[in-house]
Amino acid sequence: MQWNEDQKALRAAVTALGQVIGDGHLERDAGASFSHDGWKRLCEAGLPALPFEPEYGGLGQSLSTTMYVLEGLGHSCRDAGLNFSASTHLVSAGVPVQRFGSAELKRRFLPGIVDGSTIGAHAITEADGGSDVMGMRTTAVPDGDDAFVLNGSKAFVSNGPIADLIVVYARTGRPGNPAGLTAFLVERDTPGLTVGRPIAKMGLRSSPLCELFLDDVRVPRSQVIGSAGAGFLVLDHVMKWEILCSFVINVGEMQHRLEQCVSYARTRRQFGRHIGSYQSVSNLIVGMRVDVETSRKWLYDTAEKIVGRENAAVDVAISKLVVSEANVRSALTAIQIYGGHGYMAEVGLEKELRNAVAGTLYSGTTQIQQQRIAALMGLGRPAPARTEQGLE
Ligand SMILES: Cc1cc2nc3c(=O)[nH]c(=O)nc-3n(C[C@H](O)[C@H](O)[C@H](O)COP(=O)(O)OP(=O)(O)OC[C@H]3O[C@@H](n4cnc5c(N)ncnc54)[C@H](O)[C@@H]3O)c2cc1C
Repeated sequence: MQWNEDQKALRAAVTALGQVIGDGHLERDAGASFSHDGWKRLCEAGLPALPFEPEYGGLGQSLSTTMYVLEGLGHSCRDAGLNFSASTHLVSAGVPVQRFGSAELKRRFLPGIVDGSTIGAHAITEADGGSDVMGMRTTAVPDGDDAFVLNGSKAFVSNGPIADLIVVYARTGRPGNPAGLTAFLVERDTPGLTVGRPIAKMGLRSSPLCELFLDDVRVPRSQVIGSAGAGFLVLDHVMKWEILCSFVINVGEMQHRLEQCVSYARTRRQFGRHIGSYQSVSNLIVGMRVDVETSRKWLYDTAEKIVGRENAAVDVAISKLVVSEANVRSALTAIQIYGGHGYMAEVGLEKELRNAVAGTLYSGTTQIQQQRIAALMGLGRPAPARTEQGLE
């Protein structure tokens, strides 16, 4: 990709900030704490505004420019939890409202999402199932002509503990019916909505996550995103953005890790030579390079297809699979290259491995992506896109 001076300037500003707001990442990981200060500074730098319409305070940037800047964040900011929260905010609430929201929804909610004063999240997964999205149990029942009443519970809501606005996906039709899901924009202080306590997790600890309980939550019909029954379409659009925006941050992280390993292999000496002069070590680094280049190419090529309105269903699934698995490999390889030092928490690589594992689970697990690719090749069960989205 060729980037112009404006795009480079946008990325440079976020990259410079990333180097500062990443400070203290090891402590925040250990204490599972979110950096409100880092978030505020990202908002001041315009990160959550990138792809949104200028009419609502956005910067009006393209999908690929947004990705380019997010890649810079991943490269410079070692607080991967903060980075993940930022991409979750951007894609979970802002993207569906901009694409499908009514004029009223945009006017009411986009300015706060865009300037980051309103933190967004989305709630799809339930305790009984994440991969089988169409089997969700949370229901939304019409209450008169102007509202729905939501009942159920959601599991693993990233940003949930800090969110002001949550896009809740609920069933308004028969289970398994693709036209039976609806997306609702629910404000945190809506009566009947209870936000659970943060759940401790393996990685991405500085990005808080929780359960959500909905007990007769009355949501005005005007807060349906798109229309009743269009939740599946909304989610499909959001997932494309999530895979591109969240995983391009991983590309930045992989690039940083690669540079770190090249530098280490050039300076660390064993048996009187740099360890990088041993072919078995340099081959590991070459593998990291191939992984990061392949990942980057898949993501940006897929973004181009989506913007060009080409069918990118298989590309999205391949991209997600390629990058998430490459990120785990890269983190594991980096630990090997650093030897015993790589295993120590203070170096930060063991944290990167814990973080990377999450990417093989959210946005559709590795197995679900494989199943989608197989189905798109005419293998396996028919129409997996209708029954097993493997979406968040
Ligand atoms: C860090 C993190 C952040 C998350 N953030 C959010 C969020 O913000 N909002 C949200 O709604 N959810 C979120 N999730 C949840 C995530 O989307 C789900 O965990 C994921 O979709 C998998 O669902 P599950 O955990 O119920 O696993 P299951 O669906 O129960 O899967 C269990 C295992 O079975 C496999 N499997 C299931 N079905 C099939 C099949 N048909 N073919 C082959 N293998 C199959 C899976 O690959 C997996 O290995 C998050 C998860 C994590 C780890």
